[in-house]
Amino acid sequence: MHDQTRTAESDQDLWPAGRLHNAREAAARAGLDALLISPGADLRYLTGYDAKPLERLTCLVVPVDGPPFLVVPALEESAAQASPAGGLGLEITGWSETDDPYAIIAARLPSRTARVGVDNHMWAEKTTAFRTALPGTRQELAGSVLNELRMRKTPPEVTALRRAGTAIDRVHARMGEWLRAGRTEREVGRDIAEAILAEGHVRVDFVIVGSGPHSASPHHELSDRVIRPGDPVVVDIGGTTRDGYCSDSTRVYAIGEPPEEFRRLHDVLLRAQTAQTKAVRPGLTAGQLDAIGRDIITDAGYGAFFIHRTGHGIGLESHEEPYIVSGSALPLEPGMAFSVEPGIYLPDRYGARIEDIVICTEDGAERLNLTGRDLVVIP
Ligand code: ZN
Ligand code: ZN
Repeated sequence: MHDQTRTAESDQDLWPAGRLHNAREAAARAGLDALLISPGADLRYLTGYDAKPLERLTCLVVPVDGPPFLVVPALEESAAQASPAGGLGLEITGWSETDDPYAIIAARLPSRTARVGVDNHMWAEKTTAFRTALPGTRQELAGSVLNELRMRKTPPEVTALRRAGTAIDRVHARMGEWLRAGRTEREVGRDIAEAILAEGHVRVDFVIVGSGPHSASPHHELSDRVIRPGDPVVVDIGGTTRDGYCSDSTRVYAIGEPPEEFRRLHDVLLRAQTAQTKAVRPGLTAGQLDAIGRDIITDAGYGAFFIHRTGHGIGLESHEEPYIVSGSALPLEPGMAFSVEPGIYLPDRYGARIEDIVICTEDGAERLNLTGRDLVVIP
């Protein structure tokens, strides 16, 4: 994840220099005087720098008047220079152990800096230190301007997400190697995690293996429960690829023939998920897309058991905007990437969820997960 090796042709594609300019314009429109961005997805989005989140301050400063600059601990300076950020013509300043990096940044901002947007994921100890260094400056969330930019993916970002989707598909395709009666969820999960790394990811983000009654708990992870014949098993897995883009896909398996009602439940779910992926188009709102699946599930009598939103955006984070949630008036637009993952969960019995990542295109959805969505019965 911290491999900063440069690949010149893809750097400019994935991390175009224009993003800093766009962020500055968006900040100005929002009435902010500067953005303060700490290590994480926003920093990587703006500069390509996959910085380590450390107790020492690393901060990209994007003033609306004046050029952006990156302040890093001296010992990280060479890594920052070697990252795609080093190719942006951005000033990179190292601070040494006896410097106060907050004071350095405060001194470089105009004295009338009234409002700054701080990274949504900046650690509280750092926002507090900035509050001390910039007394009288109001802190707001940088996400209010950056999420809007990150939500619509560029073609190279779509390519990166497609690559992530194919990588996680390869893991699902191998599920028969690991999933069988007599093994625990944890044993299966360990094999899956290894395969996530072997199949094109540099980090495992989550491994959910919900067998039998555990399938009714949407975010159950792994336990020592022994998988038994007849169990439905929900497998929801995701990781981060080398260029920072995430995968996330859920498929439903059964160990031998599952209960008859489970098949019915799965059929309803598949109908809902299929209708939703087919309905994706620019102009449809996120709330309308949620309702398309929810109505099908409700008509089949399972409405009370679809207990979460339909999906979430995905990119440099596995959960980001846009959220596909009931009541959202956000219109879908070309380039938006998000999951379509309705679920039905009958408490203490079983449940299921089917999840694909899709891209909203001019003429509908492009599915990035292409393994079959039928219930996979493992003999
Ligand atoms: Zn998932
Ligand atoms: Zn998801």
